[in-house]
Amino acid sequence: MSVARISFGHGALLMPARTAYDQELIFQEAESYARRHGRVKLELRRKELLIGLSPSDGSSACDRCSQHLRTMVTVGTTHLCVRCARERVC
Ligand SMILES: [Zn+2]
Repeated sequence: MSVARISFGHGALLMPARTAYDQELIFQEAESYARRHGRVKLELRRKELLIGLSPSDGSSACDRCSQHLRTMVTVGTTHLCVRCARERVC
């Protein structure tokens, strides 16, 4: 069974990750936890994604589409917006 794990602070949340709709919910949830906790770790399909709030000075942009967004995702050494991260992992 495919499960995603969102870790934040002292807690974690497990969510089913079977359909495209599940994946959409996972990323929405991860984003809202990142807003509340500053940084969360998302484990999905054996990949680790760090989701955090970017500095508001515009210094971080998506490596793929160059968009600057409030919430940025780090996959390895790549910084991505949430949409590109989802396309890359899912
Ligand atoms: Zn992007």
